[in-house]
Amino acid sequence: MTAPGLPSGGGCRTAPVIKERGQREVFCGLTGIVWLHRKMQDAFFLVVGSRTCAHLLQAAAGVMIFAEPRFGTAILEEGDLAGMADAHEELDREVAKLLSRRPDIRQLFLVGSCPSEVIKIDLSKAAERLSQRFAPRVRVLNYSGSGIETTFTEGEDACLASMVPVLPRTEARELLVVGALPDVVEDQMVGLLEAMGIGPIRLLPARRIDDETAVGPNTVFALAQPFLGETHAALLRRGARHLAAPFPFGEEGTTAWLAAIAREFGVDAETFERVTAAPRARARKAVAAAARTLSGKTVFFLPDSQLEIPLARFLARECGMTPVEVASPYIHDAIHGPDLDLLPAGPRIAEGQDVDLQLDRVRADRPDLTVCGLGLANPLEAEGLSTKWAIELVFTPVHFYEQAGDLAALFARPLRRKALLKLEAAE
Ligand code: SF4
Repeated sequence: MTAPGLPSGGGCRTAPVIKERGQREVFCGLTGIVWLHRKMQDAFFLVVGSRTCAHLLQAAAGVMIFAEPRFGTAILEEGDLAGMADAHEELDREVAKLLSRRPDIRQLFLVGSCPSEVIKIDLSKAAERLSQRFAPRVRVLNYSGSGIETTFTEGEDACLASMVPVLPRTEARELLVVGALPDVVEDQMVGLLEAMGIGPIRLLPARRIDDETAVGPNTVFALAQPFLGETHAALLRRGARHLAAPFPFGEEGTTAWLAAIAREFGVDAETFERVTAAPRARARKAVAAAARTLSGKTVFFLPDSQLEIPLARFLARECGMTPVEVASPYIHDAIHGPDLDLLPAGPRIAEGQDVDLQLDRVRADRPDLTVCGLGLANPLEAEGLSTKWAIELVFTPVHFYEQAGDLAALFARPLRRKALLKLEAAE
């Protein structure tokens, strides 16, 4: 007998999708640098942008002060924007200065922004030129984090997708786990897989450029994050095969994700049970504690992080909540399909955003909890609605068994706070 199959559900995979292409209210893809620079210890992210971009990054990452920061902004001055200066020459000078000062940098990402897109600086050409100049010590790649092109989690997708074409080729049968996770969570995940005898396990992004991440026709890959559409496509182009599975949020999601990999690698049911039984029990217990607050409540997801569908599945099936609308910036059947299969029928499913129309629906539904971007949370709170900031779900460790209780607690907190405030008001 092999590892268990997927649990069955009512399913939203074939539900009609409301498609909206209006104004959206989300951070840009530069935000991903905040977690990517912590993950990739020999990388540097050089944003080619304006003072606004520099301020956004400093504000988002402001709590961390490094002696040797791993990101910075090459500021485009007015002369560049007016096409009066040669931005490429200046960029080359800045990069040469940076790399001579910082021998620890082995990967340099030139990150495009709204201003660099508008004045059409060709960063792919710059990356090619600089790669030739600084190879083999430093690899220079480029991607866009511009708010014109990307929502905030797409920055990571664009970054990882830029790395796929330059990964070394391998013929080996290997598991590649894709998506940046906090180190402690990644170690837990690798520990579980190795305890089942699965390996070799490679990671994208790897912590260092010399780590043995490679790809080829015998690579099977699992996504740890649901916002990696471009990276998924880039890996398929390199001949790798995707293991579709629900995302590892909550006990059920984690078990289904691990089981998809275990089945692929022929792990028997007994081994799967032996490795997962104890952490599963811990996760169930921790989720149950927070679910007491969540059960019977309604939740509305505005499109923000692309985590919406798997999180709605977790809240519905493990915490007893009723999703009324689940909106995601993008829905990819190959990536989100397994979670949509498990999401109980009922909620409206929406792709994209037209923020005014969507807020009208929030006001009509008056959900117990609305998951949305920072910019929308305050006005909704002022209207008496409880909100959860979507960005917190990306900055907090929430994957796999040991974090399942924390994930449920993140949603329970605003509801508890509201209940306490009501209590105080009544006294
Ligand atoms: S990339 Fe665009 S949206 Fe992001 S901080 Fe810079 S100007 Fe603003």
